[in-house]
Amino acid sequence: MARITYRDIVIETRQGDIASQPDLEAIVNAANAMLMPGGGVAGAIHRAAGPGLAEECRTYAPIKPGEAVITGGHNLPNRYVIHTLGPVYGQDKPEADILARCYENSLTLCEKHQIESVGFPAISTGVFGYPMREAAEVAFATIKSMIEKGLTYPKRIVFVLYRSQDQALHDEVLSRIFPSS
Ligand code: ADP
Repeated sequence: MARITYRDIVIETRQGDIASQPDLEAIVNAANAMLMPGGGVAGAIHRAAGPGLAEECRTYAPIKPGEAVITGGHNLPNRYVIHTLGPVYGQDKPEADILARCYENSLTLCEKHQIESVGFPAISTGVFGYPMREAAEVAFATIKSMIEKGLTYPKRIVFVLYRSQDQALHDEVLSRIFPSS
């Protein structure tokens, strides 16, 4: 696990399942446009949340790449789920700008709802095909710039990576974008 603090906001990584993170007030869903259950992250979140989540989501769908919406957590241990639609790599362009907007819009919702802690999966790096390293660079650079613009919430941002090699890669990129001292 890596952990850094930048202007009083903690950013950390952990290996695990985004749908089993009881200490986080909100988790982010790597959603599909219709905000429906599917594979990967969306499948795990909807399975754990129960059918009430899909029902609540129906009122917000469809969303466009880069957008984010917030719902309750239903049967999840988290108070909120933030659903964002990442870019399909090689299709939704410019990919890096759209992926950056996913993080910006998700964090803006955290700010608006004064959410203390949020967990992100590696958005777009599954079926949407975004290379993990490039995606991590966009994610951390976007968070850094939002903190520099005065982000006050969330106080803690946790990257929940499914595979240990993905966590190791995020640790490396994190320490490069937020050098200590
Ligand atoms: P996208 O459609 O945005 O690419 P996916 O859900 O296919 O989203 O995958 C995004 C990333 O999340 C991938 O790196 C995948 O390995 C990872 N992942 C899949 N299931 C989980 C889970 N339950 N918790 C955390 N990360 C997951």
